[in-house]
Amino acid sequence: MFDGYVPDNYDAFAAYDAARAAEEELLPTCDICGERIREKMYRINGETLCEECLDWKYGESVEDYMNDNFY
Ligand SMILES: [Zn+2]
Repeated sequence: MFDGYVPDNYDAFAAYDAARAAEEELLPTCDICGERIREKMYRINGETLCEECLDWKYGESVEDYMNDNFY
C-alpha cells in the first residue's frame, strides 16, 4: 500500500502550512519586541504592543491608559 509517498496527506499539510503563513502575515506586530501578536493586542498612544511589552513599558499604570485605549 504505502510506497513512502502519500500525496493527500502531504498536500493537506502544505495547504495548512500556507494558510498558517498567510494568517501570520495578517497578525499585527509589537512595536517594541517586533513579535507577531497572537493573543491580546494593545494600542496605546499610537503604539501597538503585546501584553508582555505593555507590562514592561507601562507596568501598573496601565489601568489608566486602558480606560481610553483598550481595544
Ligand atoms: Zn512586544
